Order: sequence, then C-alpha cells, then structure tokens
Amino acid sequence: MPTPHTTPRRTYQNERVSVLLPLPLAGAYDYFVPSDLSVASGDFVSVPLGKRDLKGVVWGTGSNEVDARKLKNINGLLDIPPISEDLRKLVDWTASYTMNPPGAVLRMSMSVPSALDPPKTRTGYLPNPVTAEAEGDSRIRMTEARRRVLAVLAEGPPRVAADLARSAGVSASVVRSMAEAGLLKSVTLQQQIDLDQPDREHPRPILSPSQAAAATALITAVEQSSAKDDEGFSVILLDGVTGSGKTEVYFEAIAATIAAGRQVLVMLPEIALTTQWLKRFTERFGARPLEWHSDLTGAERRLTWRAIISGDAGVVVGTRSALFLPFPDLGLIVVDEEHDSSFKQDEGVCYNARDMAVVRARLGNFPIVLSTATPSLETFVNVRTGRYKSLSLSERHGGASLPEIAAIDMRVEPMDSQSWLAPTLQEAVAHSLASREQVMLFLNRRGYAPLTLCRHCGHRLQCPNCTSWLVEHRLQRRLSCHHCGFSMSPPEECPACEVPETLAACGPGVERLAEEVAERFPQAHCEIMASDTMQSPTAAAVLVRQMQNREIDILIGTQIMAKGHHFPYLTLVGVVDADLGLAGGDLRAAERTFQLLHQVSGRAGRAARPGRVLLQTYRPEDPVMEALVSGTRDQFLTAEAEERERYGMPPFGRLAALIISGNDHVEVERVARTLGRNSPAQEGVTVLGPAPAPLSILRGRHRWRLLLKARRETNVRSTLRNWVAKVRIRGNVRVQIDVDPYSFL
Ligand code: ADP
Ligand code: ZN
Repeated sequence: MPTPHTTPRRTYQNERVSVLLPLPLAGAYDYFVPSDLSVASGDFVSVPLGKRDLKGVVWGTGSNEVDARKLKNINGLLDIPPISEDLRKLVDWTASYTMNPPGAVLRMSMSVPSALDPPKTRTGYLPNPVTAEAEGDSRIRMTEARRRVLAVLAEGPPRVAADLARSAGVSASVVRSMAEAGLLKSVTLQQQIDLDQPDREHPRPILSPSQAAAATALITAVEQSSAKDDEGFSVILLDGVTGSGKTEVYFEAIAATIAAGRQVLVMLPEIALTTQWLKRFTERFGARPLEWHSDLTGAERRLTWRAIISGDAGVVVGTRSALFLPFPDLGLIVVDEEHDSSFKQDEGVCYNARDMAVVRARLGNFPIVLSTATPSLETFVNVRTGRYKSLSLSERHGGASLPEIAAIDMRVEPMDSQSWLAPTLQEAVAHSLASREQVMLFLNRRGYAPLTLCRHCGHRLQCPNCTSWLVEHRLQRRLSCHHCGFSMSPPEECPACEVPETLAACGPGVERLAEEVAERFPQAHCEIMASDTMQSPTAAAVLVRQMQNREIDILIGTQIMAKGHHFPYLTLVGVVDADLGLAGGDLRAAERTFQLLHQVSGRAGRAARPGRVLLQTYRPEDPVMEALVSGTRDQFLTAEAEERERYGMPPFGRLAALIISGNDHVEVERVARTLGRNSPAQEGVTVLGPAPAPLSILRGRHRWRLLLKARRETNVRSTLRNWVAKVRIRGNVRVQIDVDPYSFL
C-alpha cells in the first residue's frame, strides 16, 4: 500500500486563524473559528468581508494583530478537500519571489470559482417498474415513441431528458410526458467527467538499450521519492535529440508514479501540442488523461478541477496555468520542451512555470523531469554545476538519422523581386515533391505582410492603441494588431494622403509565402499552420492528421508547428528567414533562435527517409547558424554561457524589469523619472533606464521601462521593495515588476 504523503494538519477551534482570499490584498486576514466549527489549514471556508461573503483558504494561525472585538467569525466550512501543504507553500513562495500579494497567486489555484459550489446535479430518468408492469393498463397510452424511450433505457443507466430523447429519436416533450404519466421515474444525477484509469499493463513499446537506461533512472527517482519522503526531490534533464523517444521514456516514469498511487502533471508549452500528446498517451496507457488549458468549457473546467482536488485524476496534461492546480498528492512533474518561452507569463503575476514547477517539486519532495533537445541556458548551466542531473539520448529511434543542415547564403542567391524562396530552396522543394515526400516551410510571421505602406507618401499603417504596425491578414481581409487584437478592413485609400490605391504590402508573412508556393508549385497541396489559422485543438488535429496521411505536400507554418510533431514523410524543412529572431538585441535572441531553428529542423527525416534542412540567411557566419550547420550545440551553449557570465547576465546575474504604464503619459513619465532618480545606490546593482518601452503604447496605455541588473548574491526583492516604496503612485499608473524577465518590449 502506498503511504499517504500528507503530514497531519493542525486543527483550529475556538481560536483565531488566518484566511487567505483569492484577491490581491496585502496578506491573509484573521478570523475567529466559532466553537461549533473545527477547521484545519488548507480547508476552504466562507468568510465575511465588508458586506460580502467570500471563499478563501485557512492559511494558518492568526496573527493577533486585529483587536479581538473586531474579529469576525468564519461563516462555514465548504465541503471540498483541502489544499495541500506543498501548494500552500508554493503560493507563498511564488508570491514572495515574483513580488505579488499571495492572494493574487492563490487566485491562480482557485481559477474556477464555480468549482467551489456544490456540484451541479441533473435530473435523469429510469423506467418506473410499477407502471411498467401495468403497461396493459388502458389508462396509460403506450405509443411507438414511448416504447422506443423504454427500449433505450432498458439497456443502460439513467439518462437526462435531452440525451434520452436524442437516442430514442423522439422529442424531449415525449420524455417529460412519460414522467408525468408515471411511466418514468426521475433520479438525481451528479455531473461527472469521464475518468478512465490508466492501465499500466497496457502493451508498451520495447525500449532501446539507451532509452531503457534513461527510463530506469527516472523510475528509480520516482520510487525513491515514494518510499522516502525527505530525499524525494531531484531535477532530471532528459536531454535527447529530436525523435530519440523522450516521450516514450518519460511515460515510464509516469507509469511508475501511477503505480505508487500518486498524481502526475505534464506541462506542454502550447494547447496545439496537447492533441497529439493525448493520442500518444492514450495509445500507451489505454486511457485518456485530463487536460487543462484555455480551450476548456466552463463545465469541463469545473469538473476537472474537482477531479484533481479529490485525487481522482491520475494524470493531467496542460499548459503553464496547470502548475497551480490543487493536486493533493503530486508525485511527478514533467515539463516538456522545458526551454520554451511560453512557460513564462509576463502579465499579471509574472512567473516562469518551469522554474516554479521545480519549486513545487522541491516543496513536495518529488522528482521533476525537464525534457528537451535544446536545453535552456539556465538548465544547461544547472546541469554543469551539478544541481540538475542529466540523462541523454543521442540517437534517433529506429536508426533514423539526424537531418543534414545547410545554410543558403542569401547575399549571393539571384532573387526575383517579390520572391522569398531562393532558387536553391526551390530546387530542393521540387526534388522532394518529385519523390512524393513532404516539405515544411518555416516563417515565423503570421498573416500576409507585417507592414502596409503608402507608396505615395510613405505613411505606415499603425495600430491606434499600440506602437506596432498593423499586420495584413488577407484571407480574413483584415489589418490586425498582434498586440491588442485591434483590427480593421483594409482602407481603399491612404489614411494620411488620401490618394486611393497606393497601399502596398511589405515583406512576407505565411499567407504571402503560400501565394508564392501556389504559383511555383501549382500541383502541390499546400496548407498554412499558424496560431490564427488553428484556433482550437480540433483544427490543429485536422491539419496534423492530413499531414500524417500525406494529404498535404507543403506545410507552411510559424513556430506553432516547430514543436513536437512527428511526420514520417516530411524530409525537407526550409527556413525562409533564419535571421528573423536575431534582430532586436534581446538577451536571449541567439539562444532562442538556436532553439527554435534546431527544433524546426528536428521535424525533418524522423523516420526511414533522411531529412534535410536549408536555412536562408544573410549572416551564415553568425555563431547561431554555424552551430546549427555543424551540429555543435554544446559548444554554442558553452560560448553563450561564457558571454553571459562576462556581462553578469542571467543565469550568472539577476535581472528585474519595472514596467510603468498608465493612460496619462505625463504621469507615467513622471513616475518613471522619479524611479530613475531614486535608483538604488548599492554595490553590485545597476539600473538601466528609464526609457520609453519599445512597445511605448500598448492597448492605449503609455509604457516606460527600467531594468535592474544585480549580482547573483543580491537580495533583489528587498532592493526592489525599498525602491518602489519611494515613489508615490497616482491615478491609474501601475508599476509592474517582472523578476527574471523574458520580454523586453
Ligand atoms: P522525442 O520526444 O524525443 O522527439 P518521440 O518520443 O516523439 O521523440 O519519439 C519519436 C517517434 O519514435 C515516435 O513516433 C515514437 O512513438 C517512436 N518511438 C520512440 N521510441 C520507440 C520505441 N522504443 N519503440 C517504438 N517506437 C518508438
Ligand atoms: Zn494594438
């Protein structure tokens, strides 16, 4: 029998407790537990706040700061299992690290307020045995429709009216009239989510010796943590080339965790990836896990949250927000594509879900697996210093070879005007199509053109709410802002000089590339895969299936298609603008470009046929391109790490950004300049700025930035706290703190 992993909870009665509410208040509030009630830390309770009745969580012993006479009673205890101790610690830890009120973090754990209400029930119907016997009774009319309803019910469990009517092919009023006549009796049904239990004995693939060795190491870590509570924590990097079977390997760790009776969380960077992942999991375990992302309906959200907190959900796969779900007994976290920047949230509570997942594992004393083919520099350095363990898989499964990567030097290619495909790449595409193989063209730009310009006066179409160009989406006939969602129909004339028909598209997006492909390869079936053309997991699944069935010859896509997918007949990857991510001087530009292009390259030649990758670049001598072409990842990361160390940049130094925003630009600038004048004068701390942010207006709000750079040993939080406290903030100006920023816009 697995031992429960919870320590006994302190109970309170007839005394003060602190209750944390899911609101951005300074901290937890004290309440009194009346003598007819007994609560324990982690319990959900309802409490009065002003005139309102709110739901919160018992956080611990009261602080004694509030006068006993002013103390209010807890109203009641909710009938929901408690929040586990490690999650409470994670909430406090994240709040402190990201400098947010703990209630703002708790709100992420309690993101489904309706899940706290008593479960919704529905009315179901069963045949009424008494009247069924009296069917011959002439007072009860037995029509054909009514018989069909009874026939449907004869086979199975009680059903709700709509469902029953649909199965029997009758209208819902037939069901209701049968209930009124006493032919059916009603029962109360609890709404439930389908929870299949994963089958550990389900047939599994036979692992190669190196895969088996990695799997054994992971299983050992899981078993060790389940057996001994205090040495269960470890961070393990699963470092394997694309197609090496990392997923199959960490599935074994999941199986071991299920065997130990504990829960598993798998985090993926994007919703679009969950579909293929779910399919693979289902094949491996004969059961679907639960999913968690922004595309769930309200009911799915509520039921999933309840299934998690009750411990019924064994395995959950989700995007970054899944990290704060209330698992009572988490025994393993897997962060797939750990290097991905989508794990960083830079609005509201700014946190990095990968880093906080490591914290959750440490607080809960269980192992965490970081899986990737291109580790983030942070992780790479943590492995080198021995803080993280590393398991490597250096070969593709089944003898598939790694793709051959070559640069196309765009400075010497004879390019047609308004063409984005170099002759060398065109030739390679034609060759692949002739051998009935698939091609992927990668361009990390949605829409038709990133900029629309007036040929007469030079005016550029800009978002009215943001400092950004409007992106033309020709398929939808819209010009849209990718920052705030503003969109408009393309104007007939230039809004500045009012000369008609002068607006011209500048530069390519995926739609424009598709146009060129259609012209050059009219016989090929081409599809676009970008986040706006595949809004839902279902749309993504359709494209993925078409690709797997070889109904698509050329797939054009943005970074959304770079990740995870496995298409056996895809042998050529063409990167249309390999330099795109290098511009802008972002701290992680080189690292990210390497990761992204490496990952895109990894889509080629994953099965029997060898793959080839062509990078169109104007800077083939850039270290990123050279490392990609020569396959020298570790040298590249080592050089990158040395560079960061020399300049005291993360992970060797610390960064924190202050973003000042508001509607009134005078006030925003005043606050930014005051912060600048009061910069901490502290050894090892430097402040860059204030300066208007590159995105100087976003959703109508003016923005300024400051960046604090500090030595690793600096207590950045207390420095920031003292600094921000010096400035009086008025109106709707907001100072957002982003510790470990990823975005510098
Ligand atoms: P990665 O996550 O490292 O890119 P995957 O886990 O997606 O690699 O594996 C690539 C492909 O090879 C998948 O289709 C997977 O099912 C298959 N595969 C990997 N290992 C095995 C194995 N031992 N037996 C059978 N198929 C395997
Ligand atoms: Zn905008």
